[in-house]
Amino acid sequence: RQEQFRALRDVEPRTRDGQDITLLMNAGLLVDLPQLSESGASGIGLFRTELQFMIASTMPKVDEQENLYRSVLRQAEGRPVTFRTLDIGGDKVVSYFRSAEEENPALGWRAIRLSLDRPGLLRTQLRALLKAAAGTELKLMLPMVTEVNELRLARELLNKEVRHLSRFGHQLPRSLQFGAMLEVPSLMWQLDELMAEVDFVSVGSNDLFQFVMAVDRGNSRVADRFDTLGQPFLRVLRQIVVAADKAGTSLTLCGEIAGKPLTAMALLGIGFRNISMSPAAIGPVKSMLLSLDLAKLEEGLLPAIANTQSEKTVREFLMDFA
Ligand code: PEP
Ligand code: MG
Repeated sequence: RQEQFRALRDVEPRTRDGQDITLLMNAGLLVDLPQLSESGASGIGLFRTELQFMIASTMPKVDEQENLYRSVLRQAEGRPVTFRTLDIGGDKVVSYFRSAEEENPALGWRAIRLSLDRPGLLRTQLRALLKAAAGTELKLMLPMVTEVNELRLARELLNKEVRHLSRFGHQLPRSLQFGAMLEVPSLMWQLDELMAEVDFVSVGSNDLFQFVMAVDRGNSRVADRFDTLGQPFLRVLRQIVVAADKAGTSLTLCGEIAGKPLTAMALLGIGFRNISMSPAAIGPVKSMLLSLDLAKLEEGLLPAIANTQSEKTVREFLMDFA
């Protein structure tokens, strides 16, 4: 099967009925980069910058950050890379940056919350990213956004760094795209403002599922209790697609569910056209979509998600369809 998947590497990811799909990969370290051409992914949909911080014993200096980002962009050879700013806290522990013990770290001082409270940390990272992407395209996204206003504050910090660098004669990125992860349910009631505020949105389905279903993603006792292919979560995802389409905002999903062929199929049926996954999943997911009649799937799936009287679960519907 490995051989079979490898043979698909240069095949365009297009469904049987002619819909183009973008398959991206998730990464976090330089050692992941060779997988970009090996997997045939068309870019990096999620680069988890906190990995560099998590494996270091002291805070990486601005030059070290810049060097990593520059190497990533160089090795991506013009394929798009979406850098997510620091997502520490919660399940992502950085030993030299320990804050007070928290009873609920997943709901605590983490990600963009921490970044806005320690603007020096975020500005340093933004400077490193801006310098590394001089003359090329920079795609930035912020994790764990809860209120749209946090994005405005983050963008002010970004603008300050841009002004600072241009004042000192540095070359800036050729284009800059600013995005948000949608992984906190409160954004579901701010979808219009969110879509208007950013260039792109990326659904973090690992956290979004955790928070929508109140299921600790790291607790094996409950992690598999509820179905990612159940109606509640799929309705949430569908609502996001509808809002993004309406606003014309580019939309990606970058959680683990994108890497399982059956769930990936459901995502396409719901309306996602860009999905980002671990590199090993690209081959199996591509193999699935090449044989997919997407229009036919949509026709059955959308009613199955909405139907309140159905005897079959959505998962059963999808298995039968597959
Ligand atoms: C997510 O939450 O779905 C996600 C992609 O980010 P992480 O797994 O790093 O929290
Ligand atoms: Mg997350």
